[in-house]
Amino acid sequence: MLGLMQHHPLLISSLLVHAERHHGAQEVVSRRLEGDIHRTTYRELAARARRMAKAMQALGVGGGERVATLAWNGYRHLELYYAVSGMGAVLHTLNPRLHPDQVVWIADHAEDQVLCFDLTFLPLVEAVAARLKTVRHFVLMADRSHMPAATKIPNLQCYEDLIDAQDDAYEWPVFDEQRASSLCYTSGTTGNPKGVLYSHRSTVLHAFGAALPDALNCSSRDAILPVVPMFHVNAWSLPYVACMTGAKLVFPGAGLDGKSLHELFESEGVTVSAGVPTVWQGLLAYVEANGLGFSTMKRTIIGGSACPPAMIRAFQETYGVHVLHAWGMTEMSPLGTVCSFRNKHLAMSEAERLALQTKQGQAIYGVDMKIVDGNGAEIPWDGQTSGELLVKGPWIVQQYFKGDGGNPLVDGWFPTGDVATIDADGYMQITDRAKDVIKSGGEWIGSIDLENIAMAHPGVAMAACIAAPHPKWDERPLLVVMKKPNAMVTKEELLAFYEGKIAKWWLPDDVVFVDAIPLGATGKMQKNKLREQFKGHVLPTI
Ligand code: ADP
Repeated sequence: MLGLMQHHPLLISSLLVHAERHHGAQEVVSRRLEGDIHRTTYRELAARARRMAKAMQALGVGGGERVATLAWNGYRHLELYYAVSGMGAVLHTLNPRLHPDQVVWIADHAEDQVLCFDLTFLPLVEAVAARLKTVRHFVLMADRSHMPAATKIPNLQCYEDLIDAQDDAYEWPVFDEQRASSLCYTSGTTGNPKGVLYSHRSTVLHAFGAALPDALNCSSRDAILPVVPMFHVNAWSLPYVACMTGAKLVFPGAGLDGKSLHELFESEGVTVSAGVPTVWQGLLAYVEANGLGFSTMKRTIIGGSACPPAMIRAFQETYGVHVLHAWGMTEMSPLGTVCSFRNKHLAMSEAERLALQTKQGQAIYGVDMKIVDGNGAEIPWDGQTSGELLVKGPWIVQQYFKGDGGNPLVDGWFPTGDVATIDADGYMQITDRAKDVIKSGGEWIGSIDLENIAMAHPGVAMAACIAAPHPKWDERPLLVVMKKPNAMVTKEELLAFYEGKIAKWWLPDDVVFVDAIPLGATGKMQKNKLREQFKGHVLPTI
């Protein structure tokens, strides 16, 4: 017997319709590339998204065709999020931090038909336009006064002109919720990038899961500032969660430095933010150097790479901003786990709670996870034994775009490439990425632990621990350190800092100091580059 309830497909357009009808006066604030602060509401934004959907149709964009963006977080990007997916086309968010050759490769692979881009990326688009095989229309996301007088870009259109040419009399089409809505490529640290093709259903379900109290805990009382870019995994779904919950949205545009972010946090009453640890480093350094604080910020979601405990402590103890340590990946839309507290944790000491928060946390409903040994057998949840982490759920990839890489699943589970432990309460902790694990004499040393300890040293700005070849043990840990400006730290001091914090055989064999640690297009340390740089490094033999 079937249930007798209404059937409404879970479509992305329904999130915007909800925000317009039930939170129409709620604000969307953006720091614009034009230099000013722009204010709009969900009501206005929804009307402009409908006009943009009609404009895309007028450009000849059909169902399932890809419309690419090269853009910062801002209201026009949000309009495209809803206009393109809502009309039945696929929004392809390109990462402008990638090498231009990679941008061309990805746009060709995706067969993008239209490319919408911010003013910042005009030089990039001018440089690659002639090489893009499938793009028929280029759209500069600005008004007429910002259009270049002369350009090499063929068919360059003005975003505001496209909107002005349409009225907002448009009904969002209703179609199968399994249809593709957006496309995001993995950063491809090994081999070519692969496309993850989200569906309307996966996106709406993920937004439900992400908004839950034990996940990102968002409501209409929040003002959310996503620092995490809308060009990387849909800004961790915050543009969808905000419409679903009726929260205020605040977009930083290109202003990701500590000063610009802090100004916006304070002037707009931001309560929630989200980003990778490297971004928060800049913000915390600015706030500390200028003796500032946060008057409205309640919590920040930190993920994308392991959040060092020293950063959690700084946010919580010094500034009263609660940290939600989260884990996920492009293939997971991206949310998998969030480290929120249970009742029993509230009675713990500060130090115990901090240790807990170093973990990536508990699975949110919709995601199941397990850890397995080298033979694929499940490992017990004892918080000690580590193994490869596998996940499954309705917002986790089944197959990559165009079938690249074959079938990634193992018995229906997606292997994440991460190595983790899970404790008896189901709290997961990433010990490493499988390719970064240091294999010493047949045993594994997790690099994240070693990095977290180094980053707790007051003189260390950033630290990466990589495997260096060793004649007896195969590999041993080499600690690569970027000091804080003007800090005086020595190798001996750093090695002594590990005393009592780890098993003796985990102690790095050597420390090297560098001016900068290379970061990838999503703000993560590029350990493959460091391994290449230090492949000839000779470890001291004692
Ligand atoms: P890419 O895989 O292309 O680098 P993703 O953003 O999809 O880009 O990265 C996902 C990976 O980032 C995860 O598999 C994991 O290794 C790492 N990661 C994400 N969040 C965390 C976290 N909180 N702690 C440790 N590692 C994390």
